[in-house]
Amino acid sequence: MSPTPDIAGNDRTLQADPSHDRLYFGGITGLVDCIVNMSSLPGTFLVIEIERYSELAIVLDEGFLARVENELWQLLDAQVDGRASVFGIDAGEFGILWTRALPRSECEAVARGLLNGLRGMSLCRHSGLQLTPRIGIVTGWQGIARPQEWVHCAYLALKTNQRPFAGFALYQPEMADGLTRKWELRRDLAGALDRREFVLHYQPRLDLKRDSCTGVEALIRWKDPRGALVSPDEFMPLLENSGVIVELTLWVLNQSAVELSEWLEQDPDRVLAINVSPRALLDPLFVTLVTELIQQENLDPSQLMLEVTEGSAWEHRSSTLDSLGQLRGLGVGVSIDDFGTGHSTLEYLRLMPADEVKIDRSFTQNMLTSATDHLLVQQVIDLSHQLGMTVVAEGTESDAQVEELRRMGCDFAQGYSVARPMQQRDLMSWKLSTSAEGVPQT
Ligand code: C2E
Ligand code: CA
Ligand code: CA
Repeated sequence: MSPTPDIAGNDRTLQADPSHDRLYFGGITGLVDCIVNMSSLPGTFLVIEIERYSELAIVLDEGFLARVENELWQLLDAQVDGRASVFGIDAGEFGILWTRALPRSECEAVARGLLNGLRGMSLCRHSGLQLTPRIGIVTGWQGIARPQEWVHCAYLALKTNQRPFAGFALYQPEMADGLTRKWELRRDLAGALDRREFVLHYQPRLDLKRDSCTGVEALIRWKDPRGALVSPDEFMPLLENSGVIVELTLWVLNQSAVELSEWLEQDPDRVLAINVSPRALLDPLFVTLVTELIQQENLDPSQLMLEVTEGSAWEHRSSTLDSLGQLRGLGVGVSIDDFGTGHSTLEYLRLMPADEVKIDRSFTQNMLTSATDHLLVQQVIDLSHQLGMTVVAEGTESDAQVEELRRMGCDFAQGYSVARPMQQRDLMSWKLSTSAEGVPQT
């Protein structure tokens, strides 16, 4: 491996003997070589990644970057205080190697100390620069045969997106299963649309004022190659960043409109709600494609409700709002899904061109036992009404909740107590089993 200059202009020479506190390598391979050549097995490895460091290296002044790097090294050295070796693995990536297997509590204390130190670096404090470090740790050999694997386990812990991610994670063998499952899903999902492996289920919503079911929400499921139904919570996040999301959203719209065309035609007040990924709204062609589809299928736009969840696309709010404004211009309704969770704020309520608010089920579920949740649900209902929007309470699992929501002035209830999501043919027979007013019979 050729030496690379370090921040002080010296050569970062590969050193196979980690008796020095500070070592420089060009990557993971050099690090693994070092571990292989160690006289005793190392006991704990910690990897630190500063998010988007390569971007910082481009935008920061060279002299300032060198000072930041210098402070970083000093901080890492001070933290291990001669008890471990510190490695520069790549830009913004560092490793710390102990020859002893640290107990879990000590690993956590070291990680917390490092995170606090890195987040509070004086250069950053003074310049307003924010570093976002993440740490992954593997301690003990945990039945792992080779050093390569062992180092990868620390990276796996670092990359595993645990919520809430504390900034660090200790390797657990299940993490590998999760990652393997993700890659298998990605592989199997490629082409799933062409292979017609997606199916739609529909969940009715109860109109609390009219005591009838006048709307349904289309919910996608994926029949994987083994024939198992996979939940959208599992596969949708994997598609979010791919171009497939627009295609899939249009498929849902088209398929549900075809499957429910007769039902929709019977009553102009009936509504079909579909979930629209915020990513799809950012696609410049999305609005045009939806418009074409509405014309092609001869759909009444007022029978369509697009449910939108605030997500990363809110960062690009002007494009999102623009698309939603255009869609509403066609006569299509917009619903704020999962209201009350994530970052959905009053600003969101103020800016979103919406016709409906869906209160997240986490509030509905506890509203009969928690005075706070009850109050919040009531306030959201009242506020939304004052802003001219209707309100759906999601996740109603008991009749008592439905009755209370009715009393509170909520417009619709959607949840297992009304009906679980079902296939189109079951939906039609479920409608038949409803009473004259349309209320489901129990
Ligand atoms: P969501 O839009 O909030 O949909 C409601 C979810 O809550 C559905 O889960 C539904 O089955 C579930 N649910 C309904 N009533 C109850 C209840 O009483 N109790 C409980 N515990 N759960 C209830 P599902 O079908 O697994 O969908 C999960 C999420 O996946 C949806 O959440 C939505 O965000 C997303 N999704 C589903 N279909 C699509 C789609 O076609 N496109 C996009 N972009 N996202 C979709
Ligand atoms: Ca929804
Ligand atoms: Ca929801």
